[in-house]
Amino acid sequence: MIGFELTSVQKDLQNRASQFSKEVISPVAAKHDHDGTFPLEIMKKAHAQGFLTPLVPKEFGGGGLGILDTCLLSEELAAGDMGIFVSIFVSTLALYPIIKYGTEDQKTGFLKPFCQKFSLASYCLSEYHVGSDPASMETTARAEGDYYVLNGTKMWITNGGYADLYLVFATTDPQKKHKGIISLIVPAGFQGVRHGKPIDKMGQRASNTTAVTFRDVRVPRENLLAGEGEGFKKAMVALDITRPMIAIGAVGLARTAMELATQYARTRIQFGVPIAGHQAVQFMLADMAIGIDAARLLAWRAASLADQGLRNSREAAIAKALAADVAMRVTTDAVQIYGGMGYTKWHPVEKLMRDAKVIQIYEGSAQIMRKVISKDLLGGTKAP
Ligand SMILES: Cc1cc2nc3c(=O)[nH]c(=O)nc-3n(C[C@H](O)[C@H](O)[C@H](O)COP(=O)(O)OP(=O)(O)OC[C@H]3O[C@@H](n4cnc5c(N)ncnc54)[C@H](O)[C@@H]3O)c2cc1C
Repeated sequence: MIGFELTSVQKDLQNRASQFSKEVISPVAAKHDHDGTFPLEIMKKAHAQGFLTPLVPKEFGGGGLGILDTCLLSEELAAGDMGIFVSIFVSTLALYPIIKYGTEDQKTGFLKPFCQKFSLASYCLSEYHVGSDPASMETTARAEGDYYVLNGTKMWITNGGYADLYLVFATTDPQKKHKGIISLIVPAGFQGVRHGKPIDKMGQRASNTTAVTFRDVRVPRENLLAGEGEGFKKAMVALDITRPMIAIGAVGLARTAMELATQYARTRIQFGVPIAGHQAVQFMLADMAIGIDAARLLAWRAASLADQGLRNSREAAIAKALAADVAMRVTTDAVQIYGGMGYTKWHPVEKLMRDAKVIQIYEGSAQIMRKVISKDLLGGTKAP
């Protein structure tokens, strides 16, 4: 059976997130975009609502929600501001491997306090020289007695300047490529952890993005997540769960652009009629609706597979690839519908266009998504 009807509990969750988005996020989105400042107070409010910890089981103080439920609330938050949503969402990205693979001690020691007291987490995979090919990472973890000694710099870390907890991927032996990678839970207070200044970005400027350096950081062995050689697999599994959430974030952003463009098209008069009366404009709006609905359904499918415990790498990549492209096209067309006004800071659509671009780059780029999909399609077929 396939059903698209949400339960009353899901509708309540969606409404609660929508209200938060409209009342708390939207009113300050333009200001944080302009200043590039981090909305710490909003993060605190989002934490109090449980939006940072939806997937954490209830026994550890989290929401105990599923992936699809989390997608429902994510679309609403992203409709208010994609950058603020991403800063909320990244804690889920960092915590999910602990939820899935952590020992009881790790769950009690890290998840519980995270839910009890306002905290932010970061996911530290990328480096300056290493983006799409994380198996080549240069950050090292050297085993020394009961510790790993962590050295290296992670780049582009969302919430890097504010996180209390970092989930860090490092190699114990670069020769082993992905098999040498481990993941370590590193509290920000450990000696030798330092973050850089906020990176001045084109879009999603409310989210905080920094480099994070680890210099001779002694991480107890009990902070190793899963076994040695398992880190890479765990990182990828987390991305299969979170790609549908980024996809649905793109849907929320695109939805806002479509709503604004529709409104503007109804009121802007050219040739004696609202521009919404011209078929070329109508069709641009129709294409927005087609893309948004398709992307939402693909994200829901990928999330629903994950909720059933089924492998969803291909479906998550399809959802993320399409949704990112839809967000880019919809926001570009929204600027088109606004005409010259769309190209100014007087209206919010130029911001949405800037916010959309990076969705085609992070959490696996547009090209890497197509690599995942074609690899699954072609199996072991090698290029000649
Ligand atoms: C705002 C922002 C926030 C981020 N947050 C985080 C975070 O919290 N944690 C984290 O770990 N990382 C984060 N990232 C990093 C992000 O995941 C990387 O930017 C992304 O993986 C791409 O890596 P790269 O930038 O090094 O590009 P590169 O890997 O250098 O790629 C450059 C271009 O080459 C293409 N390319 C590369 N390899 C191939 C291939 N095999 N086939 C075809 N095309 C290819 C890419 O698609 C891209 O177009 C963030 C990035 C940004 C911009």
